[in-house]
Amino acid sequence: MEKNGTMMQYFEWFLPDDGKHWQHLKEDAQHLKEIGISLVWMPPATKATGTNDAGYGVYDLYDLGEFDQKGAVRTKYGTKAEYLAAIKALQDQGILAIADIVLNHKAGADETERFPVYEVDPNNRQKKVSDAYDIEGWTKFTFPGRQGKYSAFQWNWTHFSGTDFNQENGKKAIYMIKGMAKGWADNDEVDVEFGNYDYLMYADVDYEHPDVKEEIKRWSEWFINETGVDGFRLDAVKHIEGEFIDEFIKNIRAKKGDDFFAVGEYWKKNDATLENYIVETECNVELFDVALHMNFSKASKSGNSFDMSKIFRNTLMEKNPTKAVTFVDNHDSQPSQALESWVDDWFKPLAYGMILLRENGLPCVFYGDYYGIVGEKPIHGKQDLIDQLLALRINQAYGKQNDYLDHPNCIGWTREGDEKHPGGIAVLLTNSDAGYKDMYLGKQHAGKDYVDHLGNRDETVTINADGWGTFVCASGSISVWAEPLTKE
Ligand code: CA
Repeated sequence: MEKNGTMMQYFEWFLPDDGKHWQHLKEDAQHLKEIGISLVWMPPATKATGTNDAGYGVYDLYDLGEFDQKGAVRTKYGTKAEYLAAIKALQDQGILAIADIVLNHKAGADETERFPVYEVDPNNRQKKVSDAYDIEGWTKFTFPGRQGKYSAFQWNWTHFSGTDFNQENGKKAIYMIKGMAKGWADNDEVDVEFGNYDYLMYADVDYEHPDVKEEIKRWSEWFINETGVDGFRLDAVKHIEGEFIDEFIKNIRAKKGDDFFAVGEYWKKNDATLENYIVETECNVELFDVALHMNFSKASKSGNSFDMSKIFRNTLMEKNPTKAVTFVDNHDSQPSQALESWVDDWFKPLAYGMILLRENGLPCVFYGDYYGIVGEKPIHGKQDLIDQLLALRINQAYGKQNDYLDHPNCIGWTREGDEKHPGGIAVLLTNSDAGYKDMYLGKQHAGKDYVDHLGNRDETVTINADGWGTFVCASGSISVWAEPLTKE
C-alpha cells in the first residue's frame, strides 16, 4: 500500500433511504482522490431486511440490488448496476474499493421451520435454562425472488447455531439450536463475553457446518469476480469462528493475491483480545483500533482530567501498528447507536490530528465526521478541518517521528521529513490551557519559519541552529506547524 494512505468509511447510519448513495459515491470519486483518500469502505451492498436497513440485517448475499426481494430491487444505497459503477469510478481514480460483508447472521427468512432448541441464559450462553423442546423459528431461506440464479443453495435450520424468536408463541429468548454438531462455537473461536458470544442477532450462521463453509467461500469468489472489489471489511468477527475467518481469507488470497485487503471489526476495548485475535488468525486481517477510539471518546468527555501522556497506551496503534486501522468514530459509535461512544466535538480536531499525522496505523476518516450526520439530531461535518489535516498528511507528515508525550495535558510530536517531502511538521495539542513545548525537528530545518496551518495560532516559530523550535497551541486545541504553503 502506498505511503500515508488513508481510508474513508463512506456512510453513516442515518443516510436517507433513497437509493442514491452509490450514485453519490460515484460522483464523489474524483474529489476523494483529490483530498488524499486511497481506500473507500462502502456499506454492505447485499440485500437486507428492507430498503430502510443499513445492511447489517443481511438476507441474501447474492442479491446486490438485482432482484425484487424484501420489497424492492434496490437496497438502501441503490442497485447492483449503480454499486458496480461506483466501484469502477473509485478504481479509475486509483482508489481501492472495500466491501463490507456480513457473515455472522442471516435475517428475514422466507419461511419458518420446527426444530429443537435449548433456551440459554442471555448473560451466560453456555448455561441452558430449559430442556430441549421444539420451536417454530425463522430459518428457511429459499430466495424466491432470485430463483436459484448464481447459487442454488437454500438455508435451513441445520445451517444455524441459534436464533432469538419463537413464532409459535411470540417468545423472545436466545435459543441454542440442538442437533448434530450443534451448540455454540468453541470458546477459543469466538469472544467469551456472556459466556460465549457466538450469538449476536437474527439466525446465527454455523461455521462448523461443512456445507456452510463451502457455500460462503464460493460466494466470496463469486462476489469478488462480479464486483472487482479490492478488499473486505468483515463485520462482527468476534462472533464468528476465528478458524473459519482464517480459512476464508487464505482461500481468497490464494486465488486473488496476497494484497487483497481485509480488516475485521472486533468491538473490544481490551487490546489483549485484539492482540490474541491477530495471533490466532495468523495476522491475516487488520483490525480497527477500538481501544484508541475508546481513549478518544473518554478523553473528550473528561475535559482536562484525562492524562494525555497515556492517550496511545494499550492501543493497537502502539502494540501492533502494522495491523491497526485507526479511527475516531464510526456508524456504530455515533449518537443513539448500540455502541454509542461518540468523540465530543471539541476533541475531534485533536483526535483526527492523532490518527492522520503520526506514522503508525492506517487511518480511517468517518463520513459522518466529514459530511455530517443527518436524521433527528443532525451533526455538522468538519470537511474543512479534515481536508487541511489530509493535505498535511499527504504533503508533510513523513520521516522520523520524535515524540513528546511527556505531560498530562499538553503533548506533541514532530516529523523530520524525508527526501521527497523535506518540509517536516510539528504537532502540539492540549486538553487544558494554552501550552508550549520545545521540540526537535532536525538541524536541516535550522533558520526556517513555521506557521500553524490550522490557523489556531498567529505567531511564527523560527527553528534554532540546533534544529529545535518552541511550539505553542491554544487552549483545548491543536496546532500543526509547518513552513508556509506559499514561499516567496
Ligand atoms: Ca456467530
